[in-house]
Amino acid sequence: MAAPKFITNSTSFHTELKTRITEYFKEAETASTGNYKLFSKAIILVVSFLAVYTHLVFYTPVWYFALVESIILGGLTASIGFNIMHDGAHGSFSKYPWINKLAGLSLNFLGANVFMWNTKHNVIHHAYTNIDGIDDDIDARPFLRLCDSQKFLKMHKYQHIYFWFAYSLLYIYWIFFTDYKKYFTRMVGSMPLKKMTTSDHISFWAFKVIHFCTFVIVPIYFIGFTPWIIGFLVYGMFAGVVLSIVFQLAHTVEEAHFPVPVANKIEEDWAIHQLKTTANFATRNKVISWLVGGLNFQIEHHLFPKISHVHYPEISKIIKSTCEEFGVIYIEHRKMRDAIASHINHLRSLGQLNQGRLPAYHRLDVNLKHNIELGENTTLELTAGVTNSYNRDNIFYFDRVKFERINQLPILPSIGVNLRF
Ligand SMILES: [Zn+2]
Repeated sequence: MAAPKFITNSTSFHTELKTRITEYFKEAETASTGNYKLFSKAIILVVSFLAVYTHLVFYTPVWYFALVESIILGGLTASIGFNIMHDGAHGSFSKYPWINKLAGLSLNFLGANVFMWNTKHNVIHHAYTNIDGIDDDIDARPFLRLCDSQKFLKMHKYQHIYFWFAYSLLYIYWIFFTDYKKYFTRMVGSMPLKKMTTSDHISFWAFKVIHFCTFVIVPIYFIGFTPWIIGFLVYGMFAGVVLSIVFQLAHTVEEAHFPVPVANKIEEDWAIHQLKTTANFATRNKVISWLVGGLNFQIEHHLFPKISHVHYPEISKIIKSTCEEFGVIYIEHRKMRDAIASHINHLRSLGQLNQGRLPAYHRLDVNLKHNIELGENTTLELTAGVTNSYNRDNIFYFDRVKFERINQLPILPSIGVNLRF
């Protein structure tokens, strides 16, 4: 599938947004890259990771502590991904490119590969968010049906139950399978991978070997195969659930759109497309914000991926008010549990072919009837009526191509004449 083009017909909103954000950084006299808050967080996360790994592998604790530590290590892996790798790969961690590169390489130490990530995430996901067939993040086929245009299979009826298990496999599947699939096919889904240089090839294999030694060979040597496989599965599965759920709450919720290109065009400005396909959650929760590296401020991230996540709470105020001013959608769940509920509802409705798409609605019809006796056996019946006489939103249809709800006129009038004889 070729990458679609966006129609730029409402640039004033995007231009205004960029101007206001530039002014904010000028007035605050601060760089848009990471600051001491991010650097101290990075140190805490990396030191904690090394400490837990060392304790688990070289000072093997009793099994119940080992299990808890494996879960913590999984959480730290996800958190290093969100806070250090993600900002680094976007070039927003530091003003120094070499530090960004180093931050991005943390992904390689954790088993995945930053070269593949750059194509999958920075190029494809950020530019073509929620466009089925291109955005690899919404492709979990055949296990999950994440949008309407994906093929329905009977098992999807239960996807709102078994998705937790599917998510738990993401990280392990990623580091041991999907990275290699991308490497050997030179494709990320339907899009070609950027050309790899010799040093990219060397880096890919060298880091895969380093990771395999650090997370497979060394632990097996020190603690034995059975404790290692249990610990590694707990670690990898927890990391998978955390990584998946944070990604999913930002794009696959009931309110998010999944635009379908028509004649390879998206009839929308790129910034509006980002706002229709992206959602925030729990932005007032400081603990969640700290741990997920501002990915709960996903709207801000998608509009300004080159700005470090530490600035998102402040710039979100500007973005939200600008959206209100321009009448542009801004999808937000106040609490994480609301976002999870919305994600589950989304999965449930896609598990029922053509059901659950439209919200429940009610309407009121008013009809007046008058009979005129024209003769002994002849009656003229006149009727006049209105449908939806109190709420315009009650009559609408759903445009499946644009994935849009189209409201009808506030009232649908009708008149009728009936001659009975
Ligand atoms: Zn990103």
